[in-house]
Formats: sequence, structure tokens, C-alpha cells
Amino acid sequence: MAIKFRGVDFIEFDTLLSEEERLVRDTARQFIEDNLIPIIEECNRAGRFPRELVKPMGALGFFGASLKGYGCAEMSNVEYGLVMQELERGDSGVRSFVSVQSALVMYPIYEFGSEEQKQTWLPAMQSGEKLECFGLTEPDFGSNPGGMRTRARKSGNEYVLNGEKMWITSGSIADVAVVWAKVEDEDNKVRGFLVETDRPGFRAEDIHGKWSLRASVTSSLSLQDVRVPASNLLPKSGGLKSPLMCLNQARYGIAWGAVGAAMACYDCALQYSLFRKQFHDAPIASHQLVQEKLAWMINEITKGQLLILQVGRLKDQEKVGHQHISMAKRNNVWMALECARLSRDILGANGVADEYPIFRHMANLESVKTYEGTHDIHTLIIGQSVTGIDAF
Ligand SMILES: Cc1cc2nc3c(=O)[nH]c(=O)nc-3n(C[C@H](O)[C@H](O)[C@H](O)COP(=O)(O)OP(=O)(O)OC[C@H]3O[C@@H](n4cnc5c(N)ncnc54)[C@H](O)[C@@H]3O)c2cc1C
Repeated sequence: MAIKFRGVDFIEFDTLLSEEERLVRDTARQFIEDNLIPIIEECNRAGRFPRELVKPMGALGFFGASLKGYGCAEMSNVEYGLVMQELERGDSGVRSFVSVQSALVMYPIYEFGSEEQKQTWLPAMQSGEKLECFGLTEPDFGSNPGGMRTRARKSGNEYVLNGEKMWITSGSIADVAVVWAKVEDEDNKVRGFLVETDRPGFRAEDIHGKWSLRASVTSSLSLQDVRVPASNLLPKSGGLKSPLMCLNQARYGIAWGAVGAAMACYDCALQYSLFRKQFHDAPIASHQLVQEKLAWMINEITKGQLLILQVGRLKDQEKVGHQHISMAKRNNVWMALECARLSRDILGANGVADEYPIFRHMANLESVKTYEGTHDIHTLIIGQSVTGIDAF
């Protein structure tokens, strides 16, 4: 039986949103309902990124949505977050694509780039004409990117880059990569480079066999003596703080997105529990243990909604700290994963079939728990914030 999403709002959360915010959310919701939901299970089975949705998403202003100028939609951070919630309600892989495009590539160009770089790239990325990836993680350095081995060396009016990047979303479909490297001539300071992916020496290979984010492309990047003009350096990038600022943007979107995935699982499980009958011809929703699961989920989803809305409001007032975003990412992804597991349980055997979206969300959320700072790394960030002691 096909279950149609009805939205999740236990405490009149919608009254905390402005009319414009609700309009943005509803537009994204309708887009996902009409365009992604009908194809996502096929994409997930085939391990196919639904590239046909890129231009339509660009036309709706989803890429670089909260940036100002350059054709961007100039949404508030809360509006942008609500878009991410709806995208991830559809699929975490599609939300990941938009996160990379917006927070991990358009944002650093906007924040650290020259005016020429902004003019060249941002309008084309906003429309979805140009696709991008963000190369920070390496085979031996994930949680600790400061250890990276990728190097850039100045040679005349060029930089020469060498290194390997791993687990890079959209790597093989990107037109340009933001590659983070230590610059040998600058005391190994970490800086960002725009590397067009058709440059000699650049290679992207897809990682196959993923059980998670199957509708998203994940690749390894290899750079062997890749030469880029010095003008491809992001001039205002400097130090590990720069990529971490990008990650902060992306984590903010993830914390909204996780609420969307949790809402999808919960609403599906709730509807299923009302029509599935076991014992005395009664719906399973009438059993106390099933109700306990539903009550736990709506409780945690509601708390997650309030947490990320407050973080979004702080962000819109330019008062947000990275520790606030870490708390929202950590809590909401954990919460969503727990909701996916409980929902899967409520569906019994049907919970493992892709006729329903739950197992896909559950598998996706395992990656979301790990990327952009693992759950435990965010624990350490919060611990550092409250104690003043770095325990990494
Ligand atoms: C599908 C997918 C897409 C991704 N996309 C991108 C992308 O586009 N660009 C990009 O740059 N990266 C990307 N990543 C990489 C991702 O950011 C890393 O996987 C993540 O940072 C964790 O690194 P790791 O996998 O090397 O795990 P590790 O760092 O090896 O961690 C393994 C375990 O050790 C724990 N651990 C590590 N250090 C500590 C510590 N000090 N204290 C306590 N516990 C610790 C971790 O919490 C974790 O549980 C992606 C990953 C996935 C799965």
C-alpha cells in the first residue's frame, strides 16, 4: 500500500514560522513529492543519482539559496533549512548533493573567493549548469583533516597539486572541485583551490558497493602534478579554519535534513500501524508497546524541530556558534536514525522492503551520522565548549 506523507507537527510548530517560510517549505515539499518520490526507490536500487532533477532544483533556487547576489535566491537561514528538511524527507543523497553544491563549494567561493571567481562560478552553479565537489577527506585522514598529505607547490604563475582525496560526494560528476591542500611555500598552511576536473593529472573514480546514499555519487580523487593558474587559489582561504567554516554551513543544513528523514519514517510508521491488524482484528497502533515507539518518536522529532529552529534563528541574527550547530547535527541525526530503526520495527517484515522508504532512510542516515564530523567528534566539540578543555 502506498503511503503519502502528511507532514509532522505535534505542537503547532508551523505557527513559529512566517508565511514566507511556510511557502518556501511547501514549495520544496511539493517538488519532492512530484519529482523525487516517484523515482527514488528505482534510483536507490540502481545506485543512480537523479541528475535530471538538478536543473529544476536550480530553477527553484535551491543551490546557494542563502547567499546574496550572483543569481542566488537570498533565502534566510531558516528558509534554507526548511528546504533541506524537505529534500532529505525525500532522500539524504539528494540533500547531500545540494549541501555540497551550496555549503561546501558555493559558500567558500562566496566567502574566500576573488570577485572574478565569484562571477565565473556562482551564477553557473546556482542554475545547476556547473556541478561541484569538495575534497577534504583523505584515505588516512577523516576526523583529523589537519593531517592531510595533499600538497600544493608554487611554480611560476601556477600551483602544482599532488594528493589523494577519498569519499568525495559528486566527485566524478563535478565540473570543478574545491581541493584543500597544504601549501609548501607557506609553511604548509591549508588553503583551498578551484580545480577544474578536466585538467591533466586529475582523476575521479566512483566508490561502488555502498549500502548507504546509493542515490548519491561518491568518489575518490587523485591529483598527480595537476597544474592550476595561481588565480585558482581561493585568496581569502587560510588555515584549517577555512574548510571547517564550510563544514559548519553544511552541518547546519544536515541538522534540518535529519528532521525531514525522521518525519518521513515516523509518518509512514504511524499510518502503517493504523491499518495493519494483528491480534483480535485490532490495528497494531492499539498495542501499548507500539504506541510507546510512536510517542518516543514524536517527542524526539518535536524537540529536534525546536532545536534546529532556534539554531536557525541564531544564525539569521549572526549569533550562532559552531558548538550550537554541532549540538543540532549530533542530536538530530542520532534522533533520526533511532526513529528510522523504530519505524522499521513497527513495519515488521515490510520494514525491510523498498516498497516503503524506511530502510533506505535508515541506511542513508548511517553515513549522515559519520560525515561532516562523526557523532562522537561533535560530542567532543560540545565537551570542549562547556569545559574549555580540548579532548580530541
Ligand atoms: C557517503 C559519504 C560521503 C562523504 N562525502 C564527503 C565529501 O564530499 N567531502 C569530504 O571531504 N569528505 C566526505 N566524506 C568523508 C567524511 O567526512 C568522513 O568519513 C568523516 O569525517 C569521518 O572520517 P573517517 O571515515 O576517516 O573516520 P575516522 O576519522 O577514521 O573515524 C572512525 C571512528 O573513530 C572515531 N574517532 C576518531 N577520532 C576520535 C577521537 N579523537 N575521539 C573519539 N573518537 C574518535 C570516530 O568518531 C569514528 O567513530 C563522506 C563520507 C561518506 C560516508
